[in-house]
Amino acid sequence: MKVYNTLSGQKEEFLPQGDEVKMYVCGVTPYDDCHIGHAMSYIVFDVITRYLKFRGYKVKYVQNITDIDDKIIDRANKLGISASELAGKFTDSYFDDMDTLNIERADIYPRATEEIPKIIEVIQGLIDKGYAYAAQGSVYFRVNSVSDYGKLSHRSLEAMMSACNIEMGRQKEYPMDFALWKAAKPGEPSWESPWGQGRPGWHIECSAMSLKYLGDTLDIHGGGQDLVFPHHENEIVQSESFTGAKPFAKYWLHNGLVQLGEDKMSKSTGKLITIKEALGKYSPDAIRIFILSSHYRSPLTYSEEALEAAESGADRLTQAISRHDHTGGKGEALDAEPYRKQFIEAMDDDFNNAQALAVLFDLAREINQAGDAGTSIDKAQSTLLSLAREVLGLKLPETRTVRTVSVGGGAVKISGRLSVRRIIPDTVSARVNRLVEERVNCRKEKNWQRSDEIRKRLAELGVILEDTKAGTDVTYKRVPSEESLENLMKELRIDS
Ligand SMILES: [Zn+2]
Repeated sequence: MKVYNTLSGQKEEFLPQGDEVKMYVCGVTPYDDCHIGHAMSYIVFDVITRYLKFRGYKVKYVQNITDIDDKIIDRANKLGISASELAGKFTDSYFDDMDTLNIERADIYPRATEEIPKIIEVIQGLIDKGYAYAAQGSVYFRVNSVSDYGKLSHRSLEAMMSACNIEMGRQKEYPMDFALWKAAKPGEPSWESPWGQGRPGWHIECSAMSLKYLGDTLDIHGGGQDLVFPHHENEIVQSESFTGAKPFAKYWLHNGLVQLGEDKMSKSTGKLITIKEALGKYSPDAIRIFILSSHYRSPLTYSEEALEAAESGADRLTQAISRHDHTGGKGEALDAEPYRKQFIEAMDDDFNNAQALAVLFDLAREINQAGDAGTSIDKAQSTLLSLAREVLGLKLPETRTVRTVSVGGGAVKISGRLSVRRIIPDTVSARVNRLVEERVNCRKEKNWQRSDEIRKRLAELGVILEDTKAGTDVTYKRVPSEESLENLMKELRIDS
C-alpha cells in the first residue's frame, strides 16, 4: 500500500509501527452547523479508516473537539449564552450530521476543556526545555529554538511570516512565536494554571491529546489542506520538542478543499452550504458519492449539477444491486473478481477513491448487461454491495423508501432519494395527495391547462408526477415544506 505523505511530498510505502494504526484527525470547533467542507474531510478519513480495516489493520482513531476558542466565545456572547452551552449544542449537531452521513465514530473524542491538566503538563515541559516562555500570563512557543520549523509546508520562516497575519503583541520575543496559553480576558471562560487564569491555544490541544491517547508517534495524522500551516506545522514543533521523538507523525495526509464557485467553502468567505441544507435535498449516499468522485487530495467544486449526478449514480448502484437474478444460480455466472482486484489496486495506490468508485460503476453496468443476457448476477451483486458498503460507506439500498398508497383510483408511488431518516411526514403527503387528486379531476374534465400547472408547480417543489396506465406515480426528489404546499393550494384555490 502506498500513501502520499505531505511531509516528504511523495508517495511512500505504508508501514505502520505495529498492527494497530494510530490515527489522529483534527476535529471541529463547534460554534455553528458544519458545512460540506467538513463533510469532505470526515468522509475522506472515514473511507481511509474503513479501507485500513478492510485490509486487516486494527485502527485506533482519535479526533478532538475544540470546545473553547475565540469563535465560540464571540458567538456565545452574541447569543447571550455560555460558551459551553453553545459548544454542546453544535457538538450534538456535528454528531447528528456524521451519523446521517454514515461516518463511523472515532474511538475517542477528547474535548479541549476536559484535557486542561495534560495541556498544562505539555506547556510546562516546553518551558522547562527552553522551547517556550511565559509573558504577562500567556505562554508562547519560541520558533527560533527549533531548526526545522516549516518542514511540513516546505516553506522558510520568511515565507511563512508573509503568509499569515501575525499579531505583533508586545510581549512576544519574535513575531512568529505562537501562543500555547492565552491569559484570560475579562468575562472569558478560564482555567487555573502556573501562569495565572487563562485558556489553551488551539495548536497545543492537538499535541496534548494525541500524546495522551496515542503516544509519542502517530502513524497517520490527517486534516484538511488548510491546516498544513500554521496548525500542523505548530503541532509538529510542539510535540517533537516535548517528547524528543521524531517524527511526531509518520504519514501526514491532507484532503483537498471544497470550493463553491471560485472560493474555498468556509465560514470566513461566507460561501457555504451546510450539511443539513444538502441533506434536505440529497440523500447521504449522493453526498458521499459526490465527495468520493474526485481524488481525496484534489479540490472539489460543489454544484447542484454535481449533486444531481451523484444522486443518479446512487440510483444506478441501487438498481444494479436490486435486480432480480432470474437464473436461480444455474448456468454461467458473472465473475466480479477482476473488479474486486481493480478496486483494491486503486485503493492501495494512495486511497484512490475516485478510481475505486469508477470501478464500482463499471461493475454495476456489467451486472445490468449480464442480467439482461440471462447470466447469473447474484454473486457479482454481493461483491458490489460489500465493497460499496464496507469500504465506501454507502448505505445502498436501505436509503430508499418505497411505498404505494391509493389516491383517487390511481396508484401513488412514493420512491427514491429519501433516507430512512427522512420519511415523508403525513402532513406533507396528505397535501401532495390532495393536489394529485385535484389534478386527476382536472384531467377527467379535460382541463389540461390547470392539470399541467399543478404538475409544474409540484415539480418545482421536488415532487414529480408521472401518468401511467395504473394512475399517477408520485416521486419525491425531496420533501417540500408543509408551508410551501399550503401556499400552493391557496394560490390554486384548492381546499385541504
Ligand atoms: Zn489539530
